[in-house]
Amino acid sequence: MVTNRTFTMLKPDAVEKGHVGAIIEKITASGFRIVAMKLTQMTTADAEEFYAIHKERPFFPDLVEYMTRGPIVAAILEKDNAVEDFRTLIGATNPAEAAEGTIRKLYAASIGENAVHGSDSDENAAIEGAFHFSGREMF
Ligand code: UDP
Ligand code: MG
Repeated sequence: MVTNRTFTMLKPDAVEKGHVGAIIEKITASGFRIVAMKLTQMTTADAEEFYAIHKERPFFPDLVEYMTRGPIVAAILEKDNAVEDFRTLIGATNPAEAAEGTIRKLYAASIGENAVHGSDSDENAAIEGAFHFSGREMF
C-alpha cells in the first residue's frame, strides 16, 4: 500500500545552524505539501519513546541527548509515495554516504547529527505524526 503522508523533524543541529528555511524550501520545491508544522522541543521521555526501537543500540544515550538539546521543527508532509520519496530526498543516515544534492549531504555533520528525520514506513509515519500532532493541528 502506498499512502501519501510522511513525518519529518528538522533536528536540533539544523535549527541551531539556521538551516530551517533552506530545508523547508527544498522540501516544498520537491513537491511535498505541509500538512502540519511546529517548532517544539522533545523531553528526555519523548525522545526515549520516539526512538524506543534503538534503545539497545550503543548510540542511544547520545541520540537522546542530541534530540533534546534544543528545539526541532516537526512536520507532516503529503505527496504521492511520500515515505519513499522523502527518504530519497534526505539521503543516507550517514552524510558521507548520502547522494549529492540530498538534505543530509548538504546539511548533516555526521551520522549522529544528521539534520533531518524521515519516517521509514507508512505505519511509522502515522505513529510519529500522531506522536507530535493532534488532529486539530493537521491541515
Ligand atoms: N544514529 C547514530 N548512530 C548510528 C545510527 C543512527 O547516532 O550509527 C542516529 C542518527 O541521528 C539517526 C538516528 O539515530 O538518524 C536513527 O537511526 P536510524 O538507523 O533509524 O536512521 P534514519 O532512519 O534516521 O536514517
Ligand atoms: Mg529510522
